[in-house]
Amino acid sequence: MSFSSLEIAPSIVKIISQQGFEGPYPIQSQAIPIVLQGKDLLGIAKTGSGKTASFVWPILTQLQQFDRSKSRHIQVLVLVPTRELAEQVKEVFRFYSEGLPLAVKTLAVYGGVSINPQMMALQGVQVLIATPGRLLELEQKNALNLSETRIVVIDEADKMLNLGFKNEMDRVNSFLPRHRQNLLFSATLSKEIENLNAAWLHKPQVVQIVTEEAEADLIQQEVYLVSEERKGPLLRYLIKQNQWQQVLVFTSTLFRADSVADKLNKNGIDAEAIHSKKSQGARTEILHRFKTGKLQVLVATELLSRGIDIEFLPVVVNYELPRSPKDFIHRIGRTGRAENPGKAVSLITPDEQAHFIVIQKKMGKWVERIDSSTINLQGF
Ligand code: AMP
Repeated sequence: MSFSSLEIAPSIVKIISQQGFEGPYPIQSQAIPIVLQGKDLLGIAKTGSGKTASFVWPILTQLQQFDRSKSRHIQVLVLVPTRELAEQVKEVFRFYSEGLPLAVKTLAVYGGVSINPQMMALQGVQVLIATPGRLLELEQKNALNLSETRIVVIDEADKMLNLGFKNEMDRVNSFLPRHRQNLLFSATLSKEIENLNAAWLHKPQVVQIVTEEAEADLIQQEVYLVSEERKGPLLRYLIKQNQWQQVLVFTSTLFRADSVADKLNKNGIDAEAIHSKKSQGARTEILHRFKTGKLQVLVATELLSRGIDIEFLPVVVNYELPRSPKDFIHRIGRTGRAENPGKAVSLITPDEQAHFIVIQKKMGKWVERIDSSTINLQGF
C-alpha cells in the first residue's frame, strides 16, 4: 500500500516522501481509513508502532474541511499522560501541518509550568494537546471553549490510568460535546481499558497491532543493579541458586564472552562461549550440545546469537546491555511464549542505568530494579 492511497492531504504525502518512509506501518494502513470515515477507534499499539502519525495525518486532513469561524473553539483535543508526550505529539502535528492549504495552529499544555502564557497562547488554536489536570485548570478559568470539539484522542490510555488520571478524565468527558469522534490508543488491552472504552467510545472499530515488543510482556523480567566487579559472582549465584539448566548469556564483546565462560567453568558450571573467532565446526558442535541440553550455559555476543535457532529458552541473561532497544527486545524475545513464559535477567551497573531507562521507554514496560548489594556472594 502506498501513502497516496491513504487519502490523506497531498502536502502531508509530500512531507512523508521527503522523509523517505517506504510505506505505511500496519497501524497506519488500518487506522487511517477509519479515522477519515469519522468513526470511533480503539487502537491497541505501542510506542514505536507509528501510532502518532496514524491519528495526526488523518486529523490534519479532516481539519481542512472544518468550519473555522469560531476562533476560540478547540476542534481537536488530544489527551496525553505526560508533558514529554504532549511536546512530542505537538511536534508531530506541527511538522505535518507545514504546507497545508489551511494553516493549523497546535498548542501543548501541561502542568508544572505557569498557566498564564498557556492561556494567552490558546487564541486561535485548533488542536490542543493536554494533560488532564492542566486541561481542567484551564477549563475552570474559562480559558478554553470545548463546546465545538469534533475529535478527541486519548493517547497512551493505559499509562493515563496507571498515573491515576481516571477521575480527571471522567470530568473532562463530562464537559465535552456528546457528538464527537473518539480515538483511544493503548499499548495493552485490559479490563480498565475496556471500561474506558465503554465510557468514551461509540461503537469503535478495533485495530490491534501485535509486535515483537508486545510479546515481551509475556516475559518475566528481573533486573539487578550490581557493580562491575560483582557481575560475575552474581551470575554464578543466580545460576546455582535457581538451578538453571539452560541459560543463554549475552555479552557485548568476544573477549568478555570468553572470560565469562572461563570463570563459570572454573566455578564448576559447564559453559562455552561462541563467537566469530571459533571455527565453524566448533560452533556447530557447541550449539548442538546447548540445544540438546548437554551444555548448561552458552555465552554469546549479539552477532552470533542471531543464528541460535532455539524455539524456547527458559532463561536469558543480559550480562551487558545491547546498544539498541530493538536488540534487547529481540534477545529477551527468545524466552517468552504465550503458554510458557520464560525469564529474562539483566545485570546493570550504575553506569548502564541511563541506557536501560531508554530501553524500557522503548519497550513501554518498567521493571523494578533489584539492589543486589545485600546478596551475599561469598564463595560464588
Ligand atoms: P510512534 O509509534 O508514533 O512513536 O512512531 C515511532 C517512529 O516511527 C517515529 O519516529 C516516526 O517518525 C516513525 N514512523 C512513523 N511512521 C513511519 C513509517 N510509515 N515508516 C517509517 N517510519 C515511520
